[in-house]
Amino acid sequence: MDYAIAVIPGDGIGPDIIDETLQVLDRIGELYGHSFKYTELLAGGAALDAEGVPLPARTLAVCKESDAVLLGAVGGPQWDNLAGSRRPEQALLGLRSGLGLFANLRPAILFEELKDACPLRSDIIGEGLDIYVVRELTGGIYFGDRGSEELASGTRAWDTMAYSVPEVERIARLSFSIAMKRSKKVTSVDKANILESSRLWRATVEKVARDFPEVELNHMYVDNAAMQLVRNPHQFDVIVTSNMFGDILSDEASMITGSIGMLPSASLGEGSFGMYEPVHGSAPDIAGQDKANPIAAILSAAMMLRYTFELSAEADAVEAAVAAVLKGPSRTGDIIREGKGEKLTGTREMGKLIRDALVSA
Ligand code: NAD
Repeated sequence: MDYAIAVIPGDGIGPDIIDETLQVLDRIGELYGHSFKYTELLAGGAALDAEGVPLPARTLAVCKESDAVLLGAVGGPQWDNLAGSRRPEQALLGLRSGLGLFANLRPAILFEELKDACPLRSDIIGEGLDIYVVRELTGGIYFGDRGSEELASGTRAWDTMAYSVPEVERIARLSFSIAMKRSKKVTSVDKANILESSRLWRATVEKVARDFPEVELNHMYVDNAAMQLVRNPHQFDVIVTSNMFGDILSDEASMITGSIGMLPSASLGEGSFGMYEPVHGSAPDIAGQDKANPIAAILSAAMMLRYTFELSAEADAVEAAVAAVLKGPSRTGDIIREGKGEKLTGTREMGKLIRDALVSA
């Protein structure tokens, strides 16, 4: 099969990690008989320098024509003083809205070999962790009516949280579909004891659940979910929640896994289209120095194989290769442990080790 991938390396370590990721995809292509066609595009600071805008029209147009988008990271101190609309991060917002990406998937997987990096006690962590946070991305309070007014008593400001049935239905349906491929459990997080929009959220999730009788559904208030994530994270499999609650809970869940250099993400739209990117930023402090951990980007490509291309054996192979390399002594600077005899490894070497592990997967 031929697959068209729009590739946006972006800024900072973006090009370092995307280069390794494309080589991993190429090796998958050789091993499984696929052809991945890449179109490299500008966004973020690189686009500002070359074309004066963070998201050139061509970038969005080519992304729309592609099967999937792979993005490194955008931003850096050289663009920090630009006006809001010209900041590199505007490219991310423009891509999300322009591509209709309504769901953000953030797996929080704790690899056995990185358990030391987890801030929770080992008896809480047990045999490692595997949680999926599905966050609604284009609705809720971040997109609701907002404003401010001057009153005699001082300034007053407001933001509004609103959800419609179709918005909740599509994210719920996606979450149940993901749960069907995992351990068939969904926790829907809301604040239905207080918020009207949460009551609609809960009723809609329950309606969608009837189409997935094999999936066990439970509801949890967001304050309790924040506590339960650190008290007993094993009770969760797929968590589905609104934009703001998901913003906070996905960061909390990912902290449990230790290193930011290990965390992939996917943003999905209608059909199988998706944009895949590591959770971390452009890490300007280590850019171009062969120091960045490419694993978050490589695992993002594995998510692309699984969710957009429905190549689950290939996705499993990439994830298994990462796990196999982590069993060895080689570690990038962000995940190396003192006193364990581990070997400091650069971006390129880490990429090569993962590709070599694929051959034997
Ligand atoms: P960051 O994630 O770039 O870096 C935080 C720390 O983690 C740094 O010390 C960095 O060296 C380290 N780190 C990050 N990724 C790593 C990796 N793969 N391997 C090893 N170490 C890694 O966050 P920041 O410093 O707050 O932001 C830097 C720039 O990135 C800013 O311009 C910010 O706006 C931008 N940013 C972009 C995105 C994105 O493109 N999605 C996300 C967050 C931040």
